Amino acid sequence: MNIELQCCALFIIFTIAVMFIREKKLDLMNRKLFQRAILACFACLIFDILSVILINLSVFRGFSIAITEMVCKFYIMLLVLQGYFGYVYASTSLLPREKMWAVIVRYLSHLVFGIGEIMMLVLPIGYTASGRIVYSYGPSTSVAYALSAVYILATIVTTIAYRKHMPGRRFIAMLLWQGLWLLAAAVQFIQPQLLLVGFASAFGMVILYIQLENPSEYVDGSTGLFTMNALSAYVHDRYKFDKQFSLFTAKIHYLTNYVDYNMEQAAVMRTARALVALGPEPAFRIDDDTFCVVYDVKERMFERAANIKMQKDGVTDLPAKGTYLLIPDSTQMSGPDEFFRFLHTYLEAEQEITIADEKLVQRLRDQNRIKELIDEALRLDRVEVFYQPFYNVREFCFDVAEALVRIRTRDGKIVPPGEFIPVAEETGQIIPLGIRVFEKVCEFLSKGEALEAGLKQVEVNISAAQFDFDNPTKFVTEMIEKYGVEPGCINLEITETAAAKNRDIMLENMNRLIEKGIGFSLDDFGTGRSNIDYFVNMPVENIKFDYSFTQGFFENDKTKYVLSGMMDILHKLDMNIVAEGIETEEQMKVMSELGIEYIQGYYYSRPIPEDEFIAFLKEKNPQCQK
Ligand code: C2E
Ligand code: MG
Ligand code: MG
Repeated sequence: MNIELQCCALFIIFTIAVMFIREKKLDLMNRKLFQRAILACFACLIFDILSVILINLSVFRGFSIAITEMVCKFYIMLLVLQGYFGYVYASTSLLPREKMWAVIVRYLSHLVFGIGEIMMLVLPIGYTASGRIVYSYGPSTSVAYALSAVYILATIVTTIAYRKHMPGRRFIAMLLWQGLWLLAAAVQFIQPQLLLVGFASAFGMVILYIQLENPSEYVDGSTGLFTMNALSAYVHDRYKFDKQFSLFTAKIHYLTNYVDYNMEQAAVMRTARALVALGPEPAFRIDDDTFCVVYDVKERMFERAANIKMQKDGVTDLPAKGTYLLIPDSTQMSGPDEFFRFLHTYLEAEQEITIADEKLVQRLRDQNRIKELIDEALRLDRVEVFYQPFYNVREFCFDVAEALVRIRTRDGKIVPPGEFIPVAEETGQIIPLGIRVFEKVCEFLSKGEALEAGLKQVEVNISAAQFDFDNPTKFVTEMIEKYGVEPGCINLEITETAAAKNRDIMLENMNRLIEKGIGFSLDDFGTGRSNIDYFVNMPVENIKFDYSFTQGFFENDKTKYVLSGMMDILHKLDMNIVAEGIETEEQMKVMSELGIEYIQGYYYSRPIPEDEFIAFLKEKNPQCQK
């Protein structure tokens, strides 16, 4: 009998179905649909084999025609069901759920399926067998062929139309699967003794299973928890199908400098076991030392989180601690993109417990808006440098200025650096931004106008985040060479950084730049961030008294004594002092008499654009011009 291929196919499908059902599963829509498609394929193959057997029995041994016809009908109905499930599997995650036309397409496909199945059931069917040729025919079979063709074509069209929305691997697997079906149907049409369709559909399932529904990608080898890939799929799925959720994450922080393998394994395995033991909700390992669990309702998450923390607090034998991030309500975020942005930003939070509330989500949005503003400014050249002159008390002229960055928005407004520098430092955008500012300063100096008007030096701010092994040395050297700027015209303002690791890198860069003739100033002196070690051991020539420090001088006696005392010490160390934030004539006089070398402040000028700055120098510096 002509059933060898179908039996092979049945064996293949059975194996895949067992593997698929046994594996650790995540409640994903696609997985459910795939499971349905496998079951339909399995049932279809059984009826395929049964119908061939019964047709043979009926034609050659006089078996009941009614029963044989019924089984033949079931077979073709299941064949259509398989095509329909295939289409649903392919299209559910692709069609936009909120669009009216997609809703209509969905209902239409259900309707066509329903009507088709009824027609196949009521319309007459015939069958024939001679040698190895066994097939059914008649109106019922014609409906089955037509509908199968419709679903195969619909699947192919949907796949091609949405190819940009899926990874290349998915695209190829889907086309291969449907292409195999079509090819097998065509061959079977020409050579009726080759009953290939059942085998082709089983083979298609193998391709889908290996390429798309492969469980190994979703399970972490060492802990058995789900992976980051799985979380990504899961979160996308839940947003797509409007299933609200809560997320709890726990991150292990080791308290030793060196984390040995055994200690790490112990901490990781213990955390993984604790999460699994807590309940049926899916647990994920999303990073070497970060874990999370997804809950359907927030009350349960809070209850479980308290439990986990209590367990952790009871553990004292491992030099590790945990930080926890709780997202009670996924609908706080607009979708998976914002959700993951939030997760990645706040997983690094320092405090022990962070709970996603309106304020935190809003902060992330603001930060993202600013990040885009900086990107756009860099792309469209909307980064501007303003200059604020310093008055040289001894030379009676404005021979130094600070370069201060601004962003000009599309509607011409100016965004001050206080609004975007902290974000740029966090996102790493400070690197390209800092280089752009430095290039603009070099370009400005290379024009020569400012130098002719008596300017000797421009101070450029460099954040700690701009220091790495090569930079700022590399970009500063490149730019001053490119624009032919004298190194002595550049002075870099640094602020101290608490991180000892960065300090060495910072010192290394500073020494290399000093060798080339670039000078350094220490900014923000007198704020909480200054440390005696910094001005004693760092090779800086100038110290800048912060706005708050100089203002404090005029407001309270304590600061007054501290500032004058510091001034004496710094002068003994041969350093120059710049007093920032001088706003009135009286303040200017007091600072000059005190013996401070440079005065910077609104009293003389606010930071102003290039052309205004040149005009300022020309007007105020007549005796200092070359
Ligand atoms: P900073 O380096 O301490 O710059 C001095 C700030 O004090 C400037 O603010 C300046 O406009 C302001 N200021 C000067 N005189 C007075 C005054 O008399 N009264 C008052 N109330 N303020 C005065 P700005 O331009 O808003 O810059 C803020 C900070 O942004 C800078 O503080 C600096 O830390 C950072 N920054 C500016 N440009 C850059 C840059 O190109 N790179 C980096 N990394 N940071 C920059
Ligand atoms: Mg500064
Ligand atoms: Mg300053």
